[in-house]
Amino acid sequence: MDAQEFLKALLMGRIIPLHYNSVQLRQRISDLKLLLETFQQIPSPVSTNPLEIDLTFIREGLKILQSQGNKEEAQKKYEEALTLLMKDVKLDRGDEKKWPHLNSEEKAIRVLTNYFAKSPNRFALERPFRKYHVAYHLTKAEGALLQNKLMETEQALLNAQEELRHVVALSLGIDLRELREEAETISQTSGRTEREVSLELFNRFLDPSLLQFKKALPLLEKILNEKKLSPHFVNPLRKMNWSAKTLKGIANEEELLKAMREHPQNLKVELQATCHISWKSFLQKLLGLPDPLAHCYFRMPDVDRFRNVRIEDAHGALLLLFDEEARLSYAPSVSTPPKENPCLLDVAIIGGGPGGISAAVNLTSLGIFRYAIFERIKPNSTVIDIWSREKEADTFYSGPPGKIEGLVGMQDTTRAVFLSRMNSFIEYFHLNFRNKEPVLHLGPLAPSPRGGAAGETEQIWLLETPQGKYHARFIMMTAGRYGKPRLLKWEEENIPDDLRKRIVRGVEVDNIENASVLVIGGGNTAFDNVKSLSAHGSGQKGNILYLSYPKQPFNVPGSLHVHNNDQLLQWEAEGKIKILWKTNTEKVEAFEENGKKRWKVFFREGEVPASVIVDYIAPAVGWQIDKEMIEKVGVPFDKGNPSCDLETGQAYHLDASGNLIAFEGLFITGDYALQKSVPAAFTSNFHAAKEIAAKLENK
Ligand SMILES: Cc1cc2nc3c(=O)[nH]c(=O)nc-3n(C[C@H](O)[C@H](O)[C@H](O)COP(=O)(O)OP(=O)(O)OC[C@H]3O[C@@H](n4cnc5c(N)ncnc54)[C@H](O)[C@@H]3O)c2cc1C
Repeated sequence: MDAQEFLKALLMGRIIPLHYNSVQLRQRISDLKLLLETFQQIPSPVSTNPLEIDLTFIREGLKILQSQGNKEEAQKKYEEALTLLMKDVKLDRGDEKKWPHLNSEEKAIRVLTNYFAKSPNRFALERPFRKYHVAYHLTKAEGALLQNKLMETEQALLNAQEELRHVVALSLGIDLRELREEAETISQTSGRTEREVSLELFNRFLDPSLLQFKKALPLLEKILNEKKLSPHFVNPLRKMNWSAKTLKGIANEEELLKAMREHPQNLKVELQATCHISWKSFLQKLLGLPDPLAHCYFRMPDVDRFRNVRIEDAHGALLLLFDEEARLSYAPSVSTPPKENPCLLDVAIIGGGPGGISAAVNLTSLGIFRYAIFERIKPNSTVIDIWSREKEADTFYSGPPGKIEGLVGMQDTTRAVFLSRMNSFIEYFHLNFRNKEPVLHLGPLAPSPRGGAAGETEQIWLLETPQGKYHARFIMMTAGRYGKPRLLKWEEENIPDDLRKRIVRGVEVDNIENASVLVIGGGNTAFDNVKSLSAHGSGQKGNILYLSYPKQPFNVPGSLHVHNNDQLLQWEAEGKIKILWKTNTEKVEAFEENGKKRWKVFFREGEVPASVIVDYIAPAVGWQIDKEMIEKVGVPFDKGNPSCDLETGQAYHLDASGNLIAFEGLFITGDYALQKSVPAAFTSNFHAAKEIAAKLENK
């Protein structure tokens, strides 16, 4: 592998996963140390430090760690460096609340990436901090390995690897977070995958004629030529055009693994009649599945996906299918399905938001492969369509997060980085997403004969979508709280289509420029809309903004964060927005002005002003849960929440005497169970997946 290929693979995150094996872990420590030392020799792309923040402490701390000195002394230097870094930083209100819960490394990363994001100092400041983080995690890994704590060693190494990617990127003048955001924007506007766009952007940066690359290349070539690095550090990107291939007579698991690794796309395999594969162990090896009971917050490498691969038995019956979209769309069931229902799903997941993704990732890793995620629009549509593009993925969304459990985790980050991470889960685990397929009807069928054991019955569920009918043993209802927008009274009436087009919600707001807009509401979503429409209060989008709110002041902190309240009032004082306190929209009429159709919004009688004329109306008055489907099934709702066990997700219904009893096969999780946050959606779906996997194993 040449240096350019190595760098591309490293930056794309194709670092080969670790095993709990002390020889491999030791090798990884030595590889990471060597790479850190190599990239330390490359001068920073920005040599000046215009803000003159003294970096002596952080450099001294790093030196102590690298010479195996006193760790506590090194950490003291780090803290001093952090204090200097934060000297002139005024934390915003949201961060002030978060600060006591963060460790020093999290604080440094947050300050560097958020408060110095646009500073000319950024690279000169961030690189030494990230270098220290690598050395710190390596020291931790070495200590853990000495005590034979392999999981702890692995965790420290994963952190070191991630920080090293940043050091390498910063050394080459690349900002990984900015690149992700650019990739997400280009991918959404061009319809290409984000991965494809990221690769293109990396190619642009890894141009051998660029100065930083010229400096890095010989150093990296040296360690690669001298074979000092393990050949199992990164997986190079393969540029193969896989032509269709058929393989017959595969005799065992090893042969099948080899065949698929060598030809991951457009492959048809026929197994020998005597070939018996244990699919759980096979897929664990093929996909590199982690153990959800041992790992938390899994970080997966970028992988070559299996696509259009079909495995059949000796009689031509389908056993396994990775389809054209690289989904594991057909796989064996955990227990024999009844003869009359061979396509029975083990689990149907309704909703492909953070909760549905966590459910599927954890199920797959627990060995449940016969499932499908039914998603109304596209993965993460709540985040994509409702969160503003300016919005941060905030772990403190509804207070300090509880412990995140399971393989899918989250850190405070930008919306783009969060979405990209969610996509990498979908890709790595080959999740079986059925997009644009809303579940319209759900119902329990009369208990059916169980596949394996004679005389026994089991509960089967029927799901209906516009594309067809499906049967499943278990349902995970994780369709969130944003099934339907809450409508204003006048919106519920018969309004003309051209007005309907001018009513915008969620992400539609982001593209409006040079227009008059009335935002309705006074909660955090209304704030996000104002922020986006005014380009962070800079007015660069050229919009004239009104905000209608029925009371005065805003409901703080109930509906609006304190810092958002302060910001809105400040923007009003600066003339960037006009807040129409104590107003309630009553009706909207068309209004012709210079041949242009605009909209006159009337407020209730006696309110001031009586009306405003605008081009767009952005109601930010919330969304509502779509209760109908679950209520019809027989799950009672209490104060807007369905009856279910909030720990396991087990849904309840009423028996003949009016007592709540477990509803066999139905689990309700994520926001749908109890509106909370992304971390809560991850954890509740992990618990339900564990519960369901255990029940399926016993079937
Ligand atoms: C403006 C805004 C900002 C937010 N910011 C944060 C934040 O910073 N941090 C945080 O932790 N939380 C935040 N939240 C909350 C967060 O979005 C939710 O807690 C989280 O999305 C819940 O995940 P979920 O998978 O349970 O539901 P959702 O993310 O809502 O996903 C549900 C999915 O189900 C699909 N669906 C719905 N009905 C059907 C059906 N009948 N059939 C098939 N599919 C269906 C939807 O299309 C959707 O993709 C924010 C919410 C909003 C509105």
